[in-house]
Amino acid sequence: MPTSRPGRAPAPRSECFAVLDPATGTPFAEAPDQQPDELDAVVEQAHEAWLGWRADPITRSKALFTAADAVETAGARLAPLLTREQGKPLADSYAEVARAAARLRYFAEPLPGPQKITDGRPVRSEVHWRPLGPVAAIVPWNFPLQLASAKFAPALAAGNTVVLKPSPYTPLATRLLASVMSTALPEGVLTVVTGHEPLGARLAAHPGIRHVTFTGSVPTGRAVAAGAAASLARVTLELGGNDAAVLLDDVEVERIAERLFWAAFRNCGQVCMAVKRVYAPARLHSQVVEALAHHAKTVVVGAGLDPGTQLGPVNNAPQLARVESYTAQALADGARAAAGGHRLDRPGYFFAPTVLSDVPPAGPLVTGEQFGPVLPVLPYSNLDEAVDAANGTGFGLGGSVWGADLDRAEEVAGRLECGTAWINHHAEISLAQPFAGIKESGVGVAGGPWGLYGNLRPFVVHRPEEA
Ligand code: NAD
Repeated sequence: MPTSRPGRAPAPRSECFAVLDPATGTPFAEAPDQQPDELDAVVEQAHEAWLGWRADPITRSKALFTAADAVETAGARLAPLLTREQGKPLADSYAEVARAAARLRYFAEPLPGPQKITDGRPVRSEVHWRPLGPVAAIVPWNFPLQLASAKFAPALAAGNTVVLKPSPYTPLATRLLASVMSTALPEGVLTVVTGHEPLGARLAAHPGIRHVTFTGSVPTGRAVAAGAAASLARVTLELGGNDAAVLLDDVEVERIAERLFWAAFRNCGQVCMAVKRVYAPARLHSQVVEALAHHAKTVVVGAGLDPGTQLGPVNNAPQLARVESYTAQALADGARAAAGGHRLDRPGYFFAPTVLSDVPPAGPLVTGEQFGPVLPVLPYSNLDEAVDAANGTGFGLGGSVWGADLDRAEEVAGRLECGTAWINHHAEISLAQPFAGIKESGVGVAGGPWGLYGNLRPFVVHRPEEA
């Protein structure tokens, strides 16, 4: 039975649920199994805390810088816990903690002051930016700390308070993060709630919440938006992706193969903006398949805490089953595994890094989101058709074009229907840039000033220059 809930008063009611280590498939710790009827008190406390937190931007800024320092100092506690529950290599967990601290610092800078608007008339319009109120942040299990910080850092900097719900697969590092930050933040400013559905659904639909910011799958995003419609809270959705990498005919395969491999397989392929399909010119197709298969066969797969591990397990059993079924269906429909194609014969949720050719383009591995260590490589003979195929799913998160002639690559990248297009790399984003999927990949904008303004509302004062 837990005795405290990070960032808020003791919570003696909750039972606990087991958290599994994906490297073994066995439980190693517990988290509070909070119930939806606890949310009224949590949101009420977030609202009370908001009345103080919104008042002074300078105090907020200082508190967020202090919180960033606290997160960084706690890296040696946070990173191993994150690896244990998520599965990723330890170095990646340290990078994720560092990214969370960096994001806090980025947004901790004081807000811009009011903006004056003039249009030649003898009136003065001033735009002030005001916070919204309690924000619900709901995040998935692939980057628990990084994605949580992408939500709470701009929301808190804007003067809102946050109720944060991590995935039940990865609740522990998030609880520790909030507890570490609570040394710098007033009570109720950042509260973590953990548990199973319908906890997230009820949080999204709670009438006291003024902004629901959600990262996760497309179907859940739809449910979240429908829930938030009841209170007409603002909704930001960062959803799934099925990013294509289009290789041009002048690409130097050996030069880009390792970068392309990691663009697809980092975090065991569990990245919203991972490369999830490769389109290669027919002439280069087998060379591309072989080069990627070489990396898939030689990468070190293991528990994230083992030194030398480059690729960890899939995070959870349902996700492993999905990866396995997409792969099995592709193989049954005629695909050929140049590497992998099966689970690994060891405890835990390990799937062999898999590179497939001859994959039917209408199958789920190409049209859906595998979100795992499996990559289809599809040949094309006409570039326009490859671009059409890249754009031919319901997703629109990112995409990339790879080739030696950068101007030509950029021209082709401009034809991709997505939020971010990369050239000769993939999925690198700066804290200062906007991040926004189109089509079913998202609603609203995260990152940079756009992410901050997504947590603010304009308040306009309009008066004549003279009485
Ligand atoms: P998911 O949609 O199943 O769950 C996401 C979160 O929502 C979890 O905390 C979950 O407990 C909660 N949830 C589940 N049902 C809910 C409901 N009805 N109402 C409210 N909350 C609910 O997603 P997942 O499997 O945890 O994560 C993988 C997905 O996330 C992939 O589709 C991936 O592409 C996407 N993702 C997107 C981005 C992005 O920035 N666009 C980033 C990371 C992951």
